[in-house]
Amino acid sequence: MSNSAESTAESSSANPFKIAQRQFDQAAEMLELEPAMRDLLRWPRREYKFTIPVKMDNGDSRVFHGYRVQYNDACGPTKGGLRWHPEETLDTVRALAAWMTWKTSVMEIPLGGGKGGVTCNPKELSEGEQERLARGWMRVMARQLGGDRDVPAPDVYTNPKIMAWMMDEYEVVTGRSHPAVITGKPLVVGGSLGREDATARGGVLCVREACQRTGIDPSGSYAIQGFGNAGQFAALLHRELLGGGKLLAVSDTSGAFYNPDGFDPEELVEHKRRRGGLSGMSGAREISAGELLALEVDILYPAAMESVITGANAGEVRARMICELANGPTTPEADEILEAKGVHVIPDFLANAGGVTVSYFEQVQGTYNYFWPLEKVHRELEAHMVNAYASVYRMHEEQKVHMRLAAYLVAVTRVAEAVRVRGWV
Ligand code: NAD
Repeated sequence: MSNSAESTAESSSANPFKIAQRQFDQAAEMLELEPAMRDLLRWPRREYKFTIPVKMDNGDSRVFHGYRVQYNDACGPTKGGLRWHPEETLDTVRALAAWMTWKTSVMEIPLGGGKGGVTCNPKELSEGEQERLARGWMRVMARQLGGDRDVPAPDVYTNPKIMAWMMDEYEVVTGRSHPAVITGKPLVVGGSLGREDATARGGVLCVREACQRTGIDPSGSYAIQGFGNAGQFAALLHRELLGGGKLLAVSDTSGAFYNPDGFDPEELVEHKRRRGGLSGMSGAREISAGELLALEVDILYPAAMESVITGANAGEVRARMICELANGPTTPEADEILEAKGVHVIPDFLANAGGVTVSYFEQVQGTYNYFWPLEKVHRELEAHMVNAYASVYRMHEEQKVHMRLAAYLVAVTRVAEAVRVRGWV
């Protein structure tokens, strides 16, 4: 196990941790942070890298590599998801842990940022192998976790079932009930109502707030790249919360599809549920992935993956607003181009923060062992999103910087202040 902040051999310009550090450096420069504060905030405070031996179904043992990065806990216990991905590396985990730190800060929730993962392909693992891997990860990390230390959650290729095994293993290791150690659990073992659609709900609420300030019509047209959890709920909630809107295009791994009359979001969700993909929808014309991103729409929701709007294609974007439900869909080069074109970008760690906010509510409810009705979850989430959007927009106006840099300025200022009042720097 290593808990040093040494640099790794993974360094390159496409390295997400290098991008996260570059984004932080820009904010640190504007805020004129002192050198020691910069050194502290551009590195994780603690990181764990370890091996997990797992007995496979065929009787062999296999060794997996696990990670947990506790990036910064000045504002409270660290919090962040666990990804099980074949390309997981320490640097992807570091970058995502840094972004979680800025996300909890911009939301003003009393938590820090963390992230974890395992390098594996869960599609190649049986259910029993997944359970043994989940329990193995938890046995290594249990003593470093807890509602008052560090709280994991589901992320790419992990789910409520895996969180339930992990919570159970934690309770076996520590000998006590502690549902607040992990969030994103099934309801019956301490999950929160409202977690399923929280990310999309938070993003659509940001769009509502942005439309009021920019004059963009919320009942105009919209397009969604990626039709998974975040994309499907965004399609439905856009109509429900904004009172209209024509869904002109959607995409998933089966292709990108356009309907000039607008898709019915409920029919699309039902079609995807039945057929496993979007292809074959009536009234749909297939378009390219690039055409979807270049459509003339009021609002574009990237909800699939990172680095899809780049220096190469940002010039073609004709959306008036981009709500980044995905993590990292826009590169720093694209940010500059979109800013020059006057596109209003709601940056990822604000736009998709509804998920961690309801995870935080789950942690609070688990600590009290008293659970809220759905209406209260929605009310509290709305209050947090409205407040966070307003802080970032105010900074954007006052400092005349694009929304992502404004979000960084808000988030980094708060964490730096917590570091200062604790007397660390
Ligand atoms: P998901 O796996 O449920 O859905 C992803 C969707 O994207 C799938 O429909 C897939 O077919 C589609 N997709 C993949 N590659 C694509 C491509 N090249 N073009 C078009 N579509 C493609 O994942 P999700 O939970 O909806 O997450 C989506 C994004 O939102 C990720 O970046 C994730 O990190 C981010 N996010 C999600 C949450 C959450 O609570 N679900 C929270 C924060 C951030």
